[in-house]
Amino acid sequence: VASTPTQVRRGDGTSLVSAEDFAPRRHFIAGEFVTGASGASIDVVNPADGSVLTTVLEGTADDVDKAVDAALAAKAGWARLVPKERAEILHKIADRLAGNADLLARLESANTGKPLMVSQDDVSGSIDTFRFMAGASRAITSQAAADYAEGHLSVILREPLGVVGVVTPWNYPLLMAAWKIAPILAAGNTMVIKPSEQTPLTTLKFAELVADLLPAGVFNVVTGYGPVVGNRLSGHPQIDMIALTGSVGSGKAVAQKAAESLKRVHLELGGKAPVIVFDDANLEEAATSLRAAGYWNSGQECGAGCRVLVHESVAEEFTEHLVREVGSLVVGEPGAGDDIEIGPLVSKAHFDRVSGFLTRASEQGIRAALGGAPIDGPGYFVPPTVLVDVPDGAECSREEIFGPVVTVETFTDENNAIDRANDVPYGLAASVWTENARRSHDLPARLDFGTVWVNSHLVLANEVPWGGFKGSGYGRDLSIYALDDYSRTKHVMHNHNR
Ligand code: NAD
Repeated sequence: VASTPTQVRRGDGTSLVSAEDFAPRRHFIAGEFVTGASGASIDVVNPADGSVLTTVLEGTADDVDKAVDAALAAKAGWARLVPKERAEILHKIADRLAGNADLLARLESANTGKPLMVSQDDVSGSIDTFRFMAGASRAITSQAAADYAEGHLSVILREPLGVVGVVTPWNYPLLMAAWKIAPILAAGNTMVIKPSEQTPLTTLKFAELVADLLPAGVFNVVTGYGPVVGNRLSGHPQIDMIALTGSVGSGKAVAQKAAESLKRVHLELGGKAPVIVFDDANLEEAATSLRAAGYWNSGQECGAGCRVLVHESVAEEFTEHLVREVGSLVVGEPGAGDDIEIGPLVSKAHFDRVSGFLTRASEQGIRAALGGAPIDGPGYFVPPTVLVDVPDGAECSREEIFGPVVTVETFTDENNAIDRANDVPYGLAASVWTENARRSHDLPARLDFGTVWVNSHLVLANEVPWGGFKGSGYGRDLSIYALDDYSRTKHVMHNHNR
């Protein structure tokens, strides 16, 4: 039986990046870093100890309007390039990111607290997104050339939308930005992005790194708060589409505001991924996989396998495996070594939120087989936690906790498992663990989730679509489907009968 880590491994105090990389940051508009309309700024905090790293500008609606003007001015020139030309630029961006991969990973870890192994994975994933979209955009062909009406030739074209607004979250700042920027630019659009006010540093570093590769105005960054900058992006009449990765509440606010101008909306929202473990599953394999899939990025992961539904006959054995696996996770500051697997949560507010879930679970009599209470500061650390004997309908098994917390509840039969798995407001991802061929084929069809893994969880590739159903939003990131989302369809019909 594993024991709960109550200590955080600390670094030697050496900063992950140089002071220069923490210099106060400005907006990036029309190819230049510029000051904003207001003099106000936002503190950017190190979640490993609560200290202030730097500041960024608190953007206003006026700043957004300037950035949109720049994106509009650049729109025709960027759309006119042939796919090969845009693809070459995206490959150069990928090369530039690759040449600065170590710096980007360190900066991401400094700002988010995430372990270096997670940041390194984020950077390599971002590079691959640019390479995939560069190649995939060249494969988009106009469909057609057929006489569907007598004497008329139809050609169906894919066109850029125009200007796209983007709002990103704090859990994967660079990766979520890359998942938007690469397909948006590859499809021939220009854009304005607002990173999370908590984690803006790698998006601004990205702007600095690619400034000489993109024509001025194609890519713009405005920092600031969601209800101000994000709200103006959602409402701006000359923005053609708004894409958000974030929480359900922000998704609703964006969609409501976007309705005023009927702009297209793309929402990648929260998740509560069930992990359904049958009595015929390889229990050790499932537990080992959940060590990563439930706790990657300290559980601040929308697809995390955070809600185990296990058949009652194997629940005890599975839980033993899971607790042993999870108990070996290494907790510490990102600067404390390459082997750190669990870092602090991103902010004091989020730490309080996750701690609240743990306190309420304990008050409801739910037992922590591992972890269960926050670790004393400095920093916002919660130990890897496994909550067991969770009753059907408990808050901790229905709501997105977004921390290193996995709940375990039992089911009696297959229908009961599927009904309960689907009985959450979210529909992002799920997994089924079974050696039974019929189950592995039939059950994915009965699960209301945008991604279903069979005997796996959280494995992704740039070739496959990512996105949810129900409260998890609509639209798809990654793959050719994202390129579709960021372009529009036009039919041109020629009368050749004259
Ligand atoms: P959040 O909704 O608090 O913030 C996300 C972004 O939205 C931030 O940039 C924020 O400033 C902005 N925002 C807030 N209010 C807004 C408003 N009224 N109008 C416009 N923008 C607004 O989310 P978060 O806490 O940063 O991120 C965590 C959430 O993101 C979780 O729910 C997680 O599941 C979700 N997420 C989903 C995916 C996915 O692919 N589905 C990926 C990563 C994160």
